[in-house]
Amino acid sequence: QQTPAEPAATPDDDGTPRKRLVVLTGPAGVGKGTVENILRKNHPGVWVSVSATTRKPRPGEVNGVNYWFLDDQQFTDKEEAGDFLETATVHGLARYGTPLKPVQEHLAEGVPTILEIDLQGARRVKQRAKELGLEVVYVFIAPPSFDELVRRLKGRGTETPEEVAKRLETAHVELSAENEFDVTIVNDDVDKAAEDLWRVIASEYGITE
Ligand code: 5GP
Repeated sequence: QQTPAEPAATPDDDGTPRKRLVVLTGPAGVGKGTVENILRKNHPGVWVSVSATTRKPRPGEVNGVNYWFLDDQQFTDKEEAGDFLETATVHGLARYGTPLKPVQEHLAEGVPTILEIDLQGARRVKQRAKELGLEVVYVFIAPPSFDELVRRLKGRGTETPEEVAKRLETAHVELSAENEFDVTIVNDDVDKAAEDLWRVIASEYGITE
């Protein structure tokens, strides 16, 4: 008698791989937004959640495409109505939140569903996943090294030395979060990192192309 091999992902009752929500997270400045954009371009079948935020749109950003841009009161109203899966205040400035309903709808349709959120948000999803009946795989995007992260944070050139120092301190703490998550992808090459991420998604969703 043969023992069946353990499947890679826990299958649903009908034997198809379980479709888990993919949460992409990592330290500030690690390039998770860039990785996500490349993934989206190369694999248009994935759906990336559109977050709400209270920060002002940057040039070229479109409401409903990049973010849902809300004022403080609108954000609070939605938060109190229970519309968000998670919320966080990022860099002590603007508030960000993931609208829950679209995530549930896309998952129900079997569409590969991705969140790109900061570490606080990812931890919040972890706390709530069970209560909401969500199956989640957490992907941590890591910089090649701490020195490289320092270079990238300084390279933006838009922050004062004090701000850079504060961000570096945060980055140091955030880097140690890696072991809280399921999969680590090192972002030493954005195209490669996006393909690594695609492989995680393809395996979760049973996509063989
Ligand atoms: P930015 O303002 O530069 O677009 O994003 C700043 C940070 O906010 C990024 O680290 C991004 O991952 C994070 N972020 C964007 N949307 C959300 C969200 O819905 N929830 C949380 N927790 N973080 C978010």
